[in-house]
Amino acid sequence: MNISIIRNNRNNKNIIDLGDNVKIGDGDFVVISGPCAVESEEQINLAAKALSCMGVKILRGGAFKPRTSPYTFQGLGIDGLKLLKSAGQKYGMKVISEIMDPRDLEISYDYVDIFQIGSRNMQNFTLLKEVGKYDKPVLLKRGMSATIEEWLSAAEYIATEGNINIILCERGIRTFEHYTRNTLDLTAVPIIKQLTNLPIIVDPSHGTGRKELVRYVTRAAVAIGADGVMIETHPNPCEALSDGKQSLNFEEMKLVLSDIISIKRCISSLDI
Ligand code: PEP
Ligand code: MN
Repeated sequence: MNISIIRNNRNNKNIIDLGDNVKIGDGDFVVISGPCAVESEEQINLAAKALSCMGVKILRGGAFKPRTSPYTFQGLGIDGLKLLKSAGQKYGMKVISEIMDPRDLEISYDYVDIFQIGSRNMQNFTLLKEVGKYDKPVLLKRGMSATIEEWLSAAEYIATEGNINIILCERGIRTFEHYTRNTLDLTAVPIIKQLTNLPIIVDPSHGTGRKELVRYVTRAAVAIGADGVMIETHPNPCEALSDGKQSLNFEEMKLVLSDIISIKRCISSLDI
């Protein structure tokens, strides 16, 4: 493919500026954290309070949840986005949430700082084209069975509509290995950096499905040159309505953050 927006200007980094000095892809390692799903006002406020105290600047929380079974918690919808935004405002954080339906983009626009396109929708071309018409940053997760080429073509769908504020997120792919929920393809990080000028972050939570692995994978994400991580946390992971097994409590999250500082120090002398 010769025509490309996101592959051009590789040396000219596409830095995503969220305002208030929160940027993604500027060389600083960014941490996005929060619950898989916004469950209640109390839950999202507890998360925002704890995470902002640790220095986390971007709060996540799903409101439209792409659940495998229709009989499980589907998210609070727009009410969830409102709770997310007000928790973010209260604790001075930017917020990100997944949008699954193009019809929800307009109403969601005022409530999020980044639109998340989930793994299951990476090739929902209608959604990609619609989100490309907005001037708000988009975090595009890798499809669980998508090649890097397919993932980049999906990003191209967004870019061709005008929105080049795209952040890629490696969240693991399906393989024959079932010990982990997905197989995290960390090689995607240097490959994406070679092929595009877009920032790439890693999702150790969905990438492993196991909270005990999140810490180690985060260390690896820093070392391999990712622009950040997105990590699921919950005030009480055992009671989470979704993805509790891969969610950290706030004490565990503190350890991850201190690991990030240590690894950054270790690699600061390397030219990555
Ligand atoms: C999520 O971030 O909660 C999510 C559903 O992720 P993915 O699309 O990677 O499965
Ligand atoms: Mn989740």
